Amino acid sequence: MSHTAASLRAQFPLLAATPELHYLDSAATAQIHRTVLDAVLHHETTSRANVLRGTYRLAEAADLAYEQARQTAARFLNAGSADEIVFTSGATAALNLVSHAFGATLQPGDRVLISVAEHHSNFVPWQMLRDRCGIELTLIPVSADGRLDLERLADLMGSRCRFIAVTQCSNVTGAWTDVAAIVAAAREAGARVLLDGAQAVQHGPQDVQALGGDFYAFSGHKCFGPGGVGVLWGRAEALTQMPPFLGGGGMIAEVTPEASTWAAPPQRFEAGTPPIAQAVGLAAALEWMMTLDWTVIRAREDALCKRLIEGLARIPSLHLLGPQNGERAPIVSFDIPGLHPHDICQVLDAQSLALRGGHHCAQPLLAAFGVEACTRASIALYNDEADIEALLGGLDCARRELS
Ligand code: PLP
Repeated sequence: MSHTAASLRAQFPLLAATPELHYLDSAATAQIHRTVLDAVLHHETTSRANVLRGTYRLAEAADLAYEQARQTAARFLNAGSADEIVFTSGATAALNLVSHAFGATLQPGDRVLISVAEHHSNFVPWQMLRDRCGIELTLIPVSADGRLDLERLADLMGSRCRFIAVTQCSNVTGAWTDVAAIVAAAREAGARVLLDGAQAVQHGPQDVQALGGDFYAFSGHKCFGPGGVGVLWGRAEALTQMPPFLGGGGMIAEVTPEASTWAAPPQRFEAGTPPIAQAVGLAAALEWMMTLDWTVIRAREDALCKRLIEGLARIPSLHLLGPQNGERAPIVSFDIPGLHPHDICQVLDAQSLALRGGHHCAQPLLAAFGVEACTRASIALYNDEADIEALLGGLDCARRELS
């Protein structure tokens, strides 16, 4: 199978229909693969029914499709079993689920660690938990290049750390987290670990058992799948120990007028009608991803990232937020003093360059860098040299127009 950017790009209907578009915002939402649209259409036109409720053949077909999607997600993550996969509406919903459900097992004074580099969706729910339940929320700082600074990790954990929730890869800097060091420290202290994999999954299948945490969250729309669906993986015994978050149909063992008891995971955490067709579409995206040679794709993504960083380094006064080199995901954010990222992005848009400017839902991280907003280019498997050269040319133009 060909892995050239052109052959991959041709498999994405929107990109195939807009050859002039330089799409460099895949960290926000990746484009949707053709196979996903086919799978959703097929499901909706052959197997549409609610799940876990009907005994007629159509409902059984829907059940089968939904449970097969769960198995696919389990294979993509190398989970211990499909029962460790909870479908949610996205990473944000998965993170809120854990902050509520695990949060319900915490006592006032227990400590939760997150990092300064978190996306707001792994920041705000823990602040809300702190305000609701009196837990202590402690922040892991970042070093000058945006990597998590783990030097004082043991001190930050103290004696009552029960949970560490960190991003696997920053959506602003592309810095990968030293997950092994965090998991080792957490294991020693008897704390659980959640990884926010929202930015990692786009760059290849993951192995939650090798990573070693207890929870893993991601969204379908960032890995070439549909919006409105995401995955929470939880280690079986970690899920079993948690009470439900949302109540409703499908998550109970029994309801009497007086009280309810809970189904076992994953149903315990899937109250109401789940995103069925979206899960089927996500499974199609994950199946497709599992057919790819990620060594080839990552090598190209890394080369494009390197070329972009070299080109940016020639722009006077430009400040790159994040690692200059070393292992990093191809997410490149920068600040050009005197030029607002919104203005930069508008000039770039006129040249069919789609980039995001703003705080990227990471205001604490941007504050640590001393900026309010920045411009971000994120590179995915369908990008090529032409995208990078167009961006560097577009930035020259933006500097001329805006200075
Ligand atoms: N975590 C990270 C690191 C992200 O980059 C994002 C989205 O950009 C999220 C979580 C939230 O994802 P969603 O908005 O799909 O729930």
